[in-house]
Amino acid sequence: MASFKELGLDEKILQAVTDMGFETPSEVQEKTIPILLDRETDIVSLAQTGTGKTAAFGFPMLQKINVDSRTTQGLILSPTRELCLQITNELINYGKHYKGLNVTAIYGGASISEQSRQIKKGAQIVVATPGRMKDMIGRGMVDISKVEYCVLDEADEMLNMGFYEDITEILSHTPKDKSTWLFSATMPKEVSKIAKKFMNAPVEITIGSKNVGSENVSHEYYLVNARDRYLALKRLADANPDIFSVVFCRTKRDTQKVAEKLIEDGYNAAAIHGDLSQNQRDLVMKSFRTRQIQMLVATDVAARGIDVDDITHVINYQLPDEIETYTHRSGRTGRAGKSGVSMVIVSKSERRKISQIEKIIQKKFEQKEIPGGMEICEIQLFHLANSIKDTKVNHEIDPYLPNINEVLEDFTKEELIKKVFSVEFTRFFNYYKNEKDLNAVAASSAGQDSGKSYSDDKVRYFINIGSRDDFNWQSLKDFLRDLLGLGQDDVFHVDVHDSFSFFNTDAKHTELVMGIFSDFVLDGRKISVELSKEGRRKGGGGKGRGRGNKKGHRKGGNRGGGGGRDGGKPSFKGKSRRKDSKPKGKGTSGRRRRR
Ligand code: ADP
Ligand code: MG
Repeated sequence: MASFKELGLDEKILQAVTDMGFETPSEVQEKTIPILLDRETDIVSLAQTGTGKTAAFGFPMLQKINVDSRTTQGLILSPTRELCLQITNELINYGKHYKGLNVTAIYGGASISEQSRQIKKGAQIVVATPGRMKDMIGRGMVDISKVEYCVLDEADEMLNMGFYEDITEILSHTPKDKSTWLFSATMPKEVSKIAKKFMNAPVEITIGSKNVGSENVSHEYYLVNARDRYLALKRLADANPDIFSVVFCRTKRDTQKVAEKLIEDGYNAAAIHGDLSQNQRDLVMKSFRTRQIQMLVATDVAARGIDVDDITHVINYQLPDEIETYTHRSGRTGRAGKSGVSMVIVSKSERRKISQIEKIIQKKFEQKEIPGGMEICEIQLFHLANSIKDTKVNHEIDPYLPNINEVLEDFTKEELIKKVFSVEFTRFFNYYKNEKDLNAVAASSAGQDSGKSYSDDKVRYFINIGSRDDFNWQSLKDFLRDLLGLGQDDVFHVDVHDSFSFFNTDAKHTELVMGIFSDFVLDGRKISVELSKEGRRKGGGGKGRGRGNKKGHRKGGNRGGGGGRDGGKPSFKGKSRRKDSKPKGKGTSGRRRRR
């Protein structure tokens, strides 16, 4: 990754970069800035919101204009007054070491004569919304006939808002031989039309995939009481034993805190945020890439540098302050053709933000339930069974086998299985057996998912098919509905795991379900369905207080990260590490936490 200096920026800007605490250029900056500094060219640069586009055009513009002149040389058009002010402030900030620089904001709803006065003082750069700009041109209040660089920022948004005509009009007052720099998150037809009409052989730069809201990402949210946020996070991790994720927090402090707690509770976790040195961050990233870390807890800014392709889950531990940032977060998963899940843990007061985000990503969220303790135990048990099945035998142990066999010779296979699983599982089970239900009761479930509310007469089932059989929650739901001849919402809360899944129906359908699956074969394989422990437990201590033993059982023997350290006993969590992870003990997250 290049440094800002290597991009060809001059000392005044580098100074500002340091002042602002930017450490490395974002991808769009890295790709755009050298080109714009190097030559006079038109450019189309596509990058999602929050990727640092302002500096991508702002730095080169500042460096290229002549601050000793009072002529307006740069024009930036942006869709809204807020953005206009934001860009203006950013540019002033970026250019604060240039003496004599004037950046003026032009937007509707404020005094036009005051803005006119500002320009007359000699604004080298004008940042404007199209409507007000056109107005001022019409009144002869601004001269853009000497503009050398014209930026169309958030071009897709401007066109969405119906500014096509205004933009055409404004550009007709600018010189033919200026450079036009177009920035956009997406490239709808209207934007390519603008590019064709107003630009001259533009260089095209695309950051990430062309279509923003990645097709491969599904979005889920979990409603919990704010104080249960951390416990919910742990359950989500435990319900996904192969998780390889980025967990987003709002502040550096929370990032550090959550990572520390996870490590303490035996997860392979680490924090990445701006208070770490470059060296520390490199180390964390290296461990993440090599899967020694399964959960990377990050701030939004620090996550900019994460270029890892097969992240399975993005977890929004807290939603970002600016909901636009959500796209950027969720875009960390579902890359390189793989599918991914973006999970949001929300409290009731934040829930309305979900629908705001839905508008931005133009996709619906699915409201899901934080899995109950027994469901997690089931998931972990099957995960363990599958891991055993997939494990390559280590022949180094061959010499010891005769003696081991002798010790165990009196047991049948069934007995051995029971014992092996008990060894691995008791701690996990003890931790979860008294845990409470974490799902906050929603005031109303308006607009959610199937509209099904949880009631005592629902039944949860376990079924031995999953994503390995090419099912996702939607296709499994469809499959079951068709098979059972049930209606749209009669099969709900479908959760697909690798080799098994869960689903719910109303209790009145239980006989039907169990009947059909008593003898059902799919592609030559017997498909079995069982009532999930979780479903049967309902009404029994589900809401129990947990007697404050939340950590106790997990700790000690269950420090998965360093499983090897306490006497070589494999811990449950340790077992569930990704197959390709390095042997435990060395360099795992357990040690990293004291930085
Ligand atoms: P976009 O226009 O692509 O939506 P912005 O230019 O508004 O994104 O940048 C989003 C945020 O990221 C801003 O707060 C900005 O100050 C910050 N930022 C930009 N570039 C960097 C960088 N290289 N390192 C750290 N933060 C950055
Ligand atoms: Mg922007």
